[in-house]
Amino acid sequence: MSATDDLLANNSSFSESFDRHHLEVQPSLKLAIVACMDSRLNVFAALGLNDGEAHVIRNAGGVITDDVIRSLALSQRKLGTREIVLVHHTDCGLEKVTDDGFRAELQEETGMAPPFAIESFDDVEASVRGSIARVRNSPFLPHRDCVRGFVYDVETGRLAEVDG
Ligand SMILES: [Zn+2]
Repeated sequence: MSATDDLLANNSSFSESFDRHHLEVQPSLKLAIVACMDSRLNVFAALGLNDGEAHVIRNAGGVITDDVIRSLALSQRKLGTREIVLVHHTDCGLEKVTDDGFRAELQEETGMAPPFAIESFDDVEASVRGSIARVRNSPFLPHRDCVRGFVYDVETGRLAEVDG
């Protein structure tokens, strides 16, 4: 059995007691969260979030890329969110590669230069600040005042705020 087969069995049980059909499509907290995809970070548990309360946008690093701006633009303009929370974390995989190194690896193996930025970093707090700045500078986002950034410690589960 693959992991996917196990998930399908889990979903069968989940759907038997499903009772969340009443949720609105607009997040009730008017909040969007951008977080790293790291499997140790359970955004809902760590922040006490429930279904229907926030958009959760995830990628490697939790960095603000053009595609995240696309999601945030839809979130704010079509689905009513006003506030943004960024969550990066300690021991991130993006601290273990370099832009040039990973770019070269992809190019050597495929013969093509990747069209995307790798977004590696040495300093997680600086990465959070960079992402906050990208939100604040995006003309596509009408609500840029309420953006706060945090580093989640994978050893303690604690969030530390990074001053933007
Ligand atoms: Zn990460």
